[in-house]
Amino acid sequence: MTSLPLDQRLAAVRTAFTEQFGHEPEGVWRAPGRVNLIGEHTDYNDGFVLPFALEQSALVAASSRPDGVVRISSRDLGETHELAPHQVVPGSGGWQAYLAGTVWALRDSGAAVGGLDIMLSSDVPVGAGLSSSAAIECAVMAAALDLFALDVAPLERARLCQRAENVYVGAPTGLLDQAASTLCADGHALFLDCRSFASRQVPLPLAEAGLEILVLDTHTPHTHVDGEYAARRAACEQAAHILRVPALRDVDDLDGALARLDDDLLRRRVRHVVSENARVLETVDLATSGRLEAIAPLLDASHASMRDDFEITVATVDLAVETARGAGALGARMTGGGFGGCIIALCRAGQGDAVGREVARAFSEHDFTAPSWFVAHPSDGAGRVG
Ligand code: ADP
Ligand code: MG
Repeated sequence: MTSLPLDQRLAAVRTAFTEQFGHEPEGVWRAPGRVNLIGEHTDYNDGFVLPFALEQSALVAASSRPDGVVRISSRDLGETHELAPHQVVPGSGGWQAYLAGTVWALRDSGAAVGGLDIMLSSDVPVGAGLSSSAAIECAVMAAALDLFALDVAPLERARLCQRAENVYVGAPTGLLDQAASTLCADGHALFLDCRSFASRQVPLPLAEAGLEILVLDTHTPHTHVDGEYAARRAACEQAAHILRVPALRDVDDLDGALARLDDDLLRRRVRHVVSENARVLETVDLATSGRLEAIAPLLDASHASMRDDFEITVATVDLAVETARGAGALGARMTGGGFGGCIIALCRAGQGDAVGREVARAFSEHDFTAPSWFVAHPSDGAGRVG
């Protein structure tokens, strides 16, 4: 997976806008995809996550219109939709719902948002768990706020984008993706408390530390994900109820909690969530004190916990992680909700690509679909770029 440099992408989306709509855009806005460094299935347990924004991003060239009409075009799909004001309401599907939904969420919150012409172009891989959906929502959000001179606090922007995805698109997702795409900062990961939504920038100077992070998409078809996800959530809620805590985030004494649960499956689910929260906190401490290499064993431990206790990994993902470790990665884990998606591997600088090739070789030996990969660079959250 290689991306074009930002200036070339900017020029291309501007040209596409002008060709489609017959006038120049007023500006171009960008919002990134994201990858979670550590903290999986902790969000709905009121716990901690540590995502960082990718260079891969959605670009939106846009201009305002006085008439309330929203015209949406995807340069990537070569498709354009025109929505009259009364059509910008939940219930219509398609990719354009992510963009129209963001305009709707803003209008529904009382913001005076008029019409828009929008040209979208994104290089965030779609459906890989890298949040291509949040990237396009957050890019449209940034554009609409600037074009209509609106002042909305960053976390509220993320919430409105989440509302677009939950209500307009109809996907019951948490706030993590939109918060990361909105709040992340260049060269940092975002430590996010999913109870209070307080956040803190955590330095991630990978290059200075002689390190890089490989992101490898296993291209595993997601099957039964929704049911498995619901089952994990239900197990966590059931365990919290038995343990008489508001959420598993509140379990301080893991051994004590495990002793109070009869059911082995619940015990393993609890052990994952509680230990994963602890690993996020430890990762934040290590990164804050400049000891990036020392997070490698935490990545390994996170993967083992997802594989053995939370049971959300699959054969492709486990093979990718094992092969990456065997090929010299310092630590590796699945990232995202599970049952496929991407892995991340912490590698010495310059080694990520070779690790990716080694995983591709192993996949070919197992007759798995070929993976794709890139070296990630922690980047900035949503904003104007042109
Ligand atoms: P993820 O966010 O993990 O990539 P989702 O299923 O949440 O996966 O969102 C993917 C959807 O977002 C696509 O099916 C499509 O509707 C929309 N999308 C993403 N990128 C683009 C694009 N460049 N052009 C049009 N639609 C896009
Ligand atoms: Mg998504």
